[in-house]
Amino acid sequence: MVQESSAAADTKIVRRQSKAAQHVSVDICVVGAGISGVSAALEAARLGRQVAIVDGLPTLGGQAVNSIIGTFCGLFANGTHGHQFTYGIAEDILRDLGKIPGALYRRHGPVTTVVYYDEIALGRWVEEQIRAAGITVILGAVLRDVHLDGRRVKELELATRYGDMRLSATGFVDATGDAALTWQAGFACRESASRQVYGTQMVVLENIDEASHPTREEIAARMMEKGEAYQLVRRNAVSFVIPGRGIAVLNMTHTETPLEPLAAAKSQLEGKAQADRAVQFLKAEFPKCFGQSRVRAYGNPGIRQTRWIVGRHQLSVDEVRNGTRFPDAIGRTAWPIELHDHGAGYVWQTFPEDHTHYIPLGSLTPAEADNLVAAGRCIDADLAALSSVRVMGPCIAMGAAAAHALDLAGSGSVHQIDIASLGRRLHDNLERNDAQPRSELSAEEKRHAEEKRQTERTHA
Ligand SMILES: Cc1cc2nc3c(=O)[nH]c(=O)nc-3n(C[C@H](O)[C@H](O)[C@H](O)COP(=O)(O)OP(=O)(O)OC[C@H]3O[C@@H](n4cnc5c(N)ncnc54)[C@H](O)[C@@H]3O)c2cc1C
Repeated sequence: MVQESSAAADTKIVRRQSKAAQHVSVDICVVGAGISGVSAALEAARLGRQVAIVDGLPTLGGQAVNSIIGTFCGLFANGTHGHQFTYGIAEDILRDLGKIPGALYRRHGPVTTVVYYDEIALGRWVEEQIRAAGITVILGAVLRDVHLDGRRVKELELATRYGDMRLSATGFVDATGDAALTWQAGFACRESASRQVYGTQMVVLENIDEASHPTREEIAARMMEKGEAYQLVRRNAVSFVIPGRGIAVLNMTHTETPLEPLAAAKSQLEGKAQADRAVQFLKAEFPKCFGQSRVRAYGNPGIRQTRWIVGRHQLSVDEVRNGTRFPDAIGRTAWPIELHDHGAGYVWQTFPEDHTHYIPLGSLTPAEADNLVAAGRCIDADLAALSSVRVMGPCIAMGAAAAHALDLAGSGSVHQIDIASLGRRLHDNLERNDAQPRSELSAEEKRHAEEKRQTERTHA
């Protein structure tokens, strides 16, 4: 009895007093906390700016963490030990996760080096970096409205589960992947008129037998042969093993990613059902490797391309193929054209070892706005060009560039900054060519490298 009455005395009756939204004001506001937004926010903080980062999810990290993407692509030049293209937070991630046993693994594959990462370690890395940088974090916050003053974004209205917020800033980064900020501001955006770019429901399988993991070619051949029996939509898919962890990450489905709430939710559930059928396929067709496996995690829906900005320049696939070096280049990569534009498979066109393609600032800057810069998978590029620059290496470079462009613009226009200064600030991401540490190739990597050499000899 005594305990109950003291507990009652410890409560109070509360009632909502005001509908006023909480107001925050910063120098640079980043909307979208995926890898591009995180790169932009950390770079802006390093430049001494007051920064806020906003995301509709309750956690930081966007798709890199929450969709369990699993590998950093586009970070290195082609070849088994190509040099590094992007620095900034990429360098920090490689260094810091590299110290955690099992958190990072470089696969020197047939095309380029791809870095496998543990998404939990990356998620904590992002959180700790953002915390240490003193960045204001607003999570579970969806954009409700955008207020403009002519060509400038002035203030965002956000809805969160804890109440509404108003966020004003001098400069804004649209790192939402869907150009949500640019769209809500009423600026022109693009969508594909006729072709679908498919997303993927990623899955982590645990308790696999790593030694018996089939090759990509074996999985693809079996999918072609038996896919119909398992009602598989996609017939050319990837399962990759992170060595020593007994897990495989599956990238085996193709789902639609509509920008309409009901259709998006429906597609999400269908994506999981499709992923379950892919798991059944693996367990039945490759029992030695997957027979005892179980699903450890489903990622959030993986979205490749939906809606994007109309920039001063639309990056074209010809510019990608030609390796056009723009005067306002801000980042580079050599990642192949990887266009998931048909249900059964995807276009995969690789480039030679000495190839580099560049991303111009013009593709990050909405033509109609002075203080808004896009970064990541919603910059202006045609479908094939975007498919080669939306991977995480160049996304990191775009985030850094967005921060520098807004820092240089101050209260002026990002269309009038000194491009030579921007180039000097982004020197590492444009010019630095650090060699990778040379590590012994695994048996699989040696086989792939030999296969590639033979294919090249055949085509020569
Ligand atoms: C299935 C799949 C596999 C892939 N595999 C690889 C790979 O192996 N390696 C690689 O490097 N790349 C890969 N990619 C590409 C890469 O993962 C993405 O292009 C990249 O992560 C995009 O980063 P981003 O920061 O631009 O966007 P996102 O990571 O999508 O982040 C956007 C953020 O904005 C938030 N947001 C959106 N709208 C709003 C709104 N209205 N209000 C508030 N917040 C909002 C979202 O919640 C999200 O967190 C893959 C992509 C997919 C889909």
